[in-house]
Amino acid sequence: MALILINLMEYNMNHINKYLMILFLSAITFGNLDAKVKVVATLPNFASIAKELGGDKVDVTVIAKGYQDPHFVDPKPSFIVKMRKADILIWAGLDLEVGWLPPLLENSRNSKILWGAPGNVDASRGVPLLEVPNIPAAQLRAGGDIHIYGNPHYWMDPYNAKIIAENITDAFIEASPSDKDYFKNRKNDFITKLEAKIIKWEELMKPYAGRKIIAYHNSWPYLEARFGFEIAGFIEPKPGIPPSPRHLVKLIKQIRNDEIRVIIVSPYFNAKPANVISDKIGGRVVKMAPSVGAFDEVQDYFDLFDYNLKNLKEAFKWEDSID
Ligand SMILES: [Zn+2]
Repeated sequence: MALILINLMEYNMNHINKYLMILFLSAITFGNLDAKVKVVATLPNFASIAKELGGDKVDVTVIAKGYQDPHFVDPKPSFIVKMRKADILIWAGLDLEVGWLPPLLENSRNSKILWGAPGNVDASRGVPLLEVPNIPAAQLRAGGDIHIYGNPHYWMDPYNAKIIAENITDAFIEASPSDKDYFKNRKNDFITKLEAKIIKWEELMKPYAGRKIIAYHNSWPYLEARFGFEIAGFIEPKPGIPPSPRHLVKLIKQIRNDEIRVIIVSPYFNAKPANVISDKIGGRVVKMAPSVGAFDEVQDYFDLFDYNLKNLKEAFKWEDSID
């Protein structure tokens, strides 16, 4: 009996060993055939686009949450661990992450994604920028401004996502050349889907061209330029500078002169000034997502525009109803 058991065990062990050997040989023969490209995105907007483009050939993690201010993210050691394993890093550039990304990246010591490496994707490359100042960056920075190379919230124009998609796809192909056709097809599908959505979004906003609104921070010039509304004033006197009572008094005067009623707010800014102004002018405060993940309803890059433009349209319709 014992002998039979031992024989059986030997048989099983041999069987298992053969199986392991086959696995081992396949790993050697086919290399990283099943290995996914590991992507770290600083912001959820890029993570969402990267997932659309990479499908099941990529593994995407993200650093900042959509309800956090992308200018000021708390750098945690766990982010360094994510970066250490990454093949690709996608970031916004234009100094948007200057306060938190450089120490994380340098501590990751990952040569694949360090500055200038092929896996380091500055998503802004080739994007036509808005609000590029003609004042030296150092001078602006000294004055507390945080948009010193032009407005860095460029993903808010869906046309720019086509350029972002090119930048990301180039890096995917570089990281995994055998999947070139897969990535190119997915990029074309993404752009086709995006273009169809853009036509719908433009139609949605067409009746409200030239409509004036107030915002807290200047996250919106790209959305504004694309969809034809106008942000006539900001609760922040300068990007990154909190409002003073004097600034608010001036702003309320302007709002009354221009007969503005809609004030947009985002999750990470103090909503109090917007509510105070809204009460004074009989206006309406409208929630807008500056990023994917800002609210539960905004799960991906397409939701970002579905959500924001629907909210704006409802606010403008309300405005029409009270005139
Ligand atoms: Zn900003």
